[in-house]
Amino acid sequence: MRAANYSNRCDAMIYADNAATTRLDPNAFEAMKPFLLENYGNASQAYAFSRVPKKALRESRAMIAACIGACAEEIYFTSGGTESDNWAIKGAAQYTEKPAIITSVIEHHAILRSCEAMERQGVPLIYLHPLPDGRITPDILADAITENTTLVSVMLANNEIGTIQPIAELCEAAHKKGALFHTDAVQAVGHIPIHVHEMDVDLLSASAHKFNGPKGVGFLYVKKGVKISPYMNGGAQESGMRAGTENVAGIVGMAVALKNNCDAMKENESHLTRLESKLLDILDMAGISYVRNGAVKKLPGLLSLSFPNEDGEALLHRLDLAGICVSTGAACDSKSTVISHVLKAIGLQEEYAKGTIRISLGKWNTEEDVEGIAHALKKCLL
Ligand code: PLP
Repeated sequence: MRAANYSNRCDAMIYADNAATTRLDPNAFEAMKPFLLENYGNASQAYAFSRVPKKALRESRAMIAACIGACAEEIYFTSGGTESDNWAIKGAAQYTEKPAIITSVIEHHAILRSCEAMERQGVPLIYLHPLPDGRITPDILADAITENTTLVSVMLANNEIGTIQPIAELCEAAHKKGALFHTDAVQAVGHIPIHVHEMDVDLLSASAHKFNGPKGVGFLYVKKGVKISPYMNGGAQESGMRAGTENVAGIVGMAVALKNNCDAMKENESHLTRLESKLLDILDMAGISYVRNGAVKKLPGLLSLSFPNEDGEALLHRLDLAGICVSTGAACDSKSTVISHVLKAIGLQEEYAKGTIRISLGKWNTEEDVEGIAHALKKCLL
């Protein structure tokens, strides 16, 4: 669905930071409205007024499950990616008697900080280091995993460089040693095909605002039979695992946005691939030197470009003055001038790492947008 007057441009602005957040799908917005204005009842109440929101929750759960190859009862609603990640790590580590966690050094801070919190409670923590293209291979995991590993957590797609990990193989290596496998799929859900039962992951995190859904809502997939401790204590919502009155409008918006993205996934992917090529062609034709970070298998539309002997932050500000939104790394790092933990981990030379920007195109970006970005970059770099 690409509405004519619903692009990523607002007046003169070109929004190219879709890995930070995305614009809300207008269909999702329309679907949410009745649950804010008319059917605002608490879905947990027993009277007739709660029937519509209760039904909406049931249908949204089933829609979301169908989009990732899960069963409805395996989907637990949360407040977003950070909560899902915290829950997966802490919920799995607290449940077990042989706790040791393995994660990678290129995870989002929601994972890294959660793992550190468990380490402070005495849980041994082992970090995996990626290849220069950002991949964590099954061999890297096999060298680190032991019979004492409770949980392995490796992200599905990296938010800074876009590298997609071989999750099914990593999962198999974890299961061979009896460990659970969690993947932070916040950047991947709604953008690349995902089938949780085929990958055989035990836990998977997602966040609606990364796939044109509303902010402040997400979900954790928990494979049937996998035991983790509840995250929020209180009411009996989410089968007693995550208490708190449900964000019905947000959940409905998340389901509609995810279904729309999944239905148009192939179309969106080829659109984004075309836009990427156009942007890089213009830079190549202008003779601009750069390195594109990440593996061959990457998130569509995400370009992590390192320009030698440039300052990424200065580039970001000059592009901003031209009305273009990009990022220098992960959004939460964008105030800092230090080289991001991901670029350090892939061993990028400092003269390249310092001059890195992340352009993350979305389904509503146009050819005109990428021409605008490429020409603005030419002005900055030539
Ligand atoms: N995990 C990854 C890979 C992310 O990119 C992000 C957000 O940038 C998060 C987790 C956190 O998600 P949320 O913003 O929904 O808390």
